[in-house]
Amino acid sequence: MNMLLSGIGKGPKSPGKLVPFRFREVDGAVLLTSYFGDWTFVSRDEFRGLYQGELSPELEARLVEKNFIRDRVDAEQLRERLRYRRRFLNYGPILHIMVVTLRCNETCVYCHASRANMDQVETDMSRDYAEKSVNLALQSTAPRITIEFQGGEPLANFPVVKHIIEYAIEKNRAYGKELEFTMVSNLALMTEEKLDYLIKHKVQICTSIDGPEKLHNKQRILTTGNAYQLAANWIERINKRYIELGLDPVLYHVEALLTTTRAALDIPKEIIDTYVNLGCRSIFLRPVDPFGFADKTQKTIEYERKRYEEFYRAAVDYIIELNKQGTQVLERFASIFLTKILTGDDPNFLDIRNPSGAGVGGIAYNYDGNVFISDEGRMLHEMGDDTFLLGHVDNAKYRDLMTHETVRAALIASNLDAQPDCVNCTYNTYCGIKPENNYTTHGSIQGRTRENAICQVHKGIQDYLFTKLHQADASTLEIFRRWTTIRERSHFLQTGTAS
Ligand code: SF4
Repeated sequence: MNMLLSGIGKGPKSPGKLVPFRFREVDGAVLLTSYFGDWTFVSRDEFRGLYQGELSPELEARLVEKNFIRDRVDAEQLRERLRYRRRFLNYGPILHIMVVTLRCNETCVYCHASRANMDQVETDMSRDYAEKSVNLALQSTAPRITIEFQGGEPLANFPVVKHIIEYAIEKNRAYGKELEFTMVSNLALMTEEKLDYLIKHKVQICTSIDGPEKLHNKQRILTTGNAYQLAANWIERINKRYIELGLDPVLYHVEALLTTTRAALDIPKEIIDTYVNLGCRSIFLRPVDPFGFADKTQKTIEYERKRYEEFYRAAVDYIIELNKQGTQVLERFASIFLTKILTGDDPNFLDIRNPSGAGVGGIAYNYDGNVFISDEGRMLHEMGDDTFLLGHVDNAKYRDLMTHETVRAALIASNLDAQPDCVNCTYNTYCGIKPENNYTTHGSIQGRTRENAICQVHKGIQDYLFTKLHQADASTLEIFRRWTTIRERSHFLQTGTAS
């Protein structure tokens, strides 16, 4: 970008012609983005010309089409688009994470959750706290909420999982919300009986796969068996159950999450092949987080974000190739960013939105009754830091949680238009930061974005996606468009009836 600026001269002769825009050199061209999410590429020469007030009729027509010419924009339409894209701001918390236990049967090298051993039953959530957590969740102003079971390993406290499901369904009759349940489980404690219950109660099941069997078992230690084989067998079994129910296997299948450790960086293709062979259709190439045990083991599993970028590009190139050969599979980061870039909508993914979803988009309820701004805030509590604690289910009021000073501070800190680097960043309209992450890495929720690993990851991914968009290979663009198509998995919705 600096190189480009040095060739420009002193400034535009007609500064009023264009809407305010941000720019960045991508793939040898200049990417322009506007506040409303429109984007276009111009050549370096065209950009120099623009800066000097030169605008050919051909370029002007292209810029008009993308709403970059100030006196040709339909202001009312842009306002409506912005209102639509940010409509999540009116929802209230949709995600309600319930940590039903810290106990876990596996020991993972990067564990974020500050796990407890299987005999530490004192870290199980009680039925009383479970009910109080559900009572708060149902008070959310969001018309649709998801209760997500996490741990530890949630199957280790299955009686309370069942109690939450039955209690929430019953209580929701008075609220009439669209209600969903999801569970993040390593599946090693799954039984046919538990599965019957989860299928009957329409609980979405999600697991973790670290890559090929050898890597998975090295990183996720299960002393009682083969962690990979157990997860793989249950994924197959659950997917079969969905088919037996007559559900479309493209939509209904177990999804798995990857945590990209250093050992994974050299084998992107093997990792993708593992996922595809397990029947997964969505792969989330998440880097390691600086939370929980991951922080302590940073030296052995962390890596330079440059290496992650190389891994990401190789992995997604391969995923695109598989799609071209007829295997439908997508990468989640790409899908989230592309939805914002190509459709003007926002999928309301809480970690990548502006402002972040901390508190106002999601809440975490710990086994001990404490309520946090997010699961990351809850993890910091397990490490002895209560910065993101909002209250306790015994006496917390929904309104007090939403107006809590920590929630308000997190909103301000994650407003990209107030972040010194983000405010000028070309990717401002599509991006998002997490105050909890800033706090952990920089000691302040405001953080220093340019030194932030998450910013590097987001910038690297968006550089990659815009490079592909600039290269404009027709079949890649078609695949990208498919990745932005949101298909409702309505089977998992439990519609309550207001009385
Ligand atoms: S987090 Fe980084 S990539 Fe995202 S808007 Fe801010 S500066 Fe840009």
